Amino acid sequence: MKNLLPGLRKFSEKVFPGHRDHFESLAQGQKPHTLMITCSDSRIDPNLVTQTQPGELFVVRNAGNIVPPFGASRGGEEAAIEFAIEGLGVTNIVICGHSQCGAMAALAGKVNLDGLPCVKSWLGHAQATKKRIDTRGGDFDLSRVVEENVLVQADNLRTHPSVSSALRSGKVQLFGWVYSFETGSIAVYDPREKAYVPSMDMKEEHGNGTSRFAL
Ligand SMILES: [Zn+2]
Repeated sequence: MKNLLPGLRKFSEKVFPGHRDHFESLAQGQKPHTLMITCSDSRIDPNLVTQTQPGELFVVRNAGNIVPPFGASRGGEEAAIEFAIEGLGVTNIVICGHSQCGAMAALAGKVNLDGLPCVKSWLGHAQATKKRIDTRGGDFDLSRVVEENVLVQADNLRTHPSVSSALRSGKVQLFGWVYSFETGSIAVYDPREKAYVPSMDMKEEHGNGTSRFAL
């Protein structure tokens, strides 16, 4: 706790008073616009990179930003996804991978998983990522594994009934991102180009229509 206590005090005494109105308004309930599924990696801060406030993002995190196919794990991911869609009515879903992902390095066989049986088992939900890369020439460059995994997990997400139904009716849009913490940049998958493009190069999208980046 000794690394955390000064922060707790600073938040309560100095930060919170400046945002009191916002936090008090959140007591009425949450209405996040986005379900963000990202890695547990300590180098990612979803609110920081999207410059959003508490109450805007409903976040699911795990090793490797993995979404087990519906029924495959009966774990917390399924419940959180269903609640975000059906209970909170989010309109965006973002799956965000990241540079230097240890889980993806392990998936690519670059990390020894002896002594980590739970991690090994969890990465079973990402075996399709490995297979896809294998069938396309087997280049296990880490950034490529990270990028491909985001798309595989998007496919897994579509097997969840709440998601497939919300996508079909246009209530929600799904996006694939890769965050590079070394450069502070986020690349967004462009399904038309079948490539990731830097968010810095994207034009602002207006209106409530379907985004060209929706998967
Ligand atoms: Zn990671």
